[in-house]
Amino acid sequence: MLELLDMSSSDAAPKLFEFYSIICDHGNLLNYFRNVQLLKNTRKCKDCLKEMKLSKRSSKIDKEEWKCDTCLSVESIRQNSMFERSKLPLRKQLEILYFFGIDMQIYEVEKFTDISHGTIIEWYKYLRGLCREFLKRDPIMLGTTEGSIVEIDESLFGKKRKYNCGIGKQDTWVFGMKEKGTRRVQFQIVEKRNKQTLIPIKSSVERGCTIYSDCWKSYSTLNEEGFDHFTVNHSENFKAPDGTCRNEIEGVWSLVKLRIKSMKGVLHDKIEAILDEFTYRHRFGLSNGDVYNKLISDIAHM
Ligand SMILES: [Zn+2]
Repeated sequence: MLELLDMSSSDAAPKLFEFYSIICDHGNLLNYFRNVQLLKNTRKCKDCLKEMKLSKRSSKIDKEEWKCDTCLSVESIRQNSMFERSKLPLRKQLEILYFFGIDMQIYEVEKFTDISHGTIIEWYKYLRGLCREFLKRDPIMLGTTEGSIVEIDESLFGKKRKYNCGIGKQDTWVFGMKEKGTRRVQFQIVEKRNKQTLIPIKSSVERGCTIYSDCWKSYSTLNEEGFDHFTVNHSENFKAPDGTCRNEIEGVWSLVKLRIKSMKGVLHDKIEAILDEFTYRHRFGLSNGDVYNKLISDIAHM
């Protein structure tokens, strides 16, 4: 018999064949939703406050609904969950969650499912918004542990195009912070590459910790601001005081830009959402970008 995923046994999402064996049977699918707490296991009647019972209803899209034996009121099983926002069958909604969780691009999801392009786009936008919400709900300071080092850097997204003929594209400066040796990153879009770049450092990095940056002049006041600031010349071989030769923030920029390239480019107004998704994946995901289990756990508790 199919084991319905013990979430504590592994951080990885179910493999594709396991996933489809769960969702191809409607009973299994509903059990799964309840096992991972995406749907509630119990419900009280909002009219008479008695415990409701699950009742089979073949005419309804979810084939079940909650029914109160006392006052006979009924409620959808998706009421008060994120799944009531869409008319899609629960199976399709879970497919989108799964493919987003395992970091599949929209054009790939279209190949695996019978869900329309527009619906997948709308859902991915919504799920990126959730990543942002979950990050905001669990804010972190970088550099809080003894001896930690935070690398900071700015990067330009949406480089100038030949003949300047791109439509709806703009150059965007992004300020990035990476705590060395951890998966903790933060980004902020800055309107101009000037002193305002320092504002996210002040609110996101613990005073007293070590900061590595390039030699850009706006960073020259960081020591006065209470940080232990070292500069690194990008054009020369990077060699930090602790002997480390890696530059982790550079690696992060490469990953983000590779992601944007794999999405066949991203418009200016979507960069923030892409950075939120990246931050969430990088902080909570496995090395392959798989955040499915973390995502459904956060959704279950929202
Ligand atoms: Zn009732």
